[in-house]
Amino acid sequence: MSSIVLFGPPGAGKGTQAQRIMESTGLPQVSTGDMLRAAVKAGTETGLSAKTYMDAGQLVPDHVIIALIEDRIQEDDASNGVMFDGFPRTIPQAEALAGITQVSHVIAIEVPDGKIVSRICGRYTCGNCSMVFHDEFNPTTEEGVCDGCGSNEFKRRADDNADTVLSRLSAYHEQTSPLAAWYEGRGIFHRIDGDRPIDEITTDILNVLE
Ligand code: ADP
Ligand code: ADP
Ligand code: ZN
Repeated sequence: MSSIVLFGPPGAGKGTQAQRIMESTGLPQVSTGDMLRAAVKAGTETGLSAKTYMDAGQLVPDHVIIALIEDRIQEDDASNGVMFDGFPRTIPQAEALAGITQVSHVIAIEVPDGKIVSRICGRYTCGNCSMVFHDEFNPTTEEGVCDGCGSNEFKRRADDNADTVLSRLSAYHEQTSPLAAWYEGRGIFHRIDGDRPIDEITTDILNVLE
């Protein structure tokens, strides 16, 4: 069993690319952000403890995240590995992951800070199938109709606002970006220019994974 990590700042396109490469890799997408939002919605203990951090654009404590991942990796669909999106985000999380599953590739999607706010503030997702769109950069083909499933219900995240995004970006630089060197030293780190058309990025990622 061998897993893939999609790495990068908020809004880099990790979720977008995960949805596109899921079919080719056969690995399920595991997004800690999605898992936390589901826990908040369900009102679980994990959700209650995570919400304050998420609303403030800060990282949720490592022990909460590691417990979520330990459970998730036990599920049947994870037996051949998974595609992590937004995890690990700290060195302790990466160390814990190393004890849980083998990671074959870390794909770093690089986008300059100056492009992040507009990416985040224009993001919306389908309320039915979770496909990711953008008001300006990646709109639905037909206005108000999801390309993935035809639904006309869309969601925006409460934390996708200009204030929270700056906190999330500084959390990324302070706590997450040091992971790049940690993984580079292990020879599995691949940088992809994420400031290009979505299709080109998908092609590059699939080439790295071949
Ligand atoms: P992440 O999962 O890394 O936070 P998303 O995949 O949700 O990022 O993408 C953030 C926003 O940017 C979404 O609205 C998405 O449609 C848009 N987006 C993704 N990739 C690109 C790209 N290559 N160019 C322009 N916009 C993009
Ligand atoms: P984005 O990719 O746009 O930053 P995510 O959906 O990955 O957003 O994460 C949303 C929020 O959930 C983060 O701001 C953070 O509070 C929390 N979170 C998600 N994944 C992690 C993680 N691995 N470690 C700590 N906090 C996390
Ligand atoms: Zn849909």
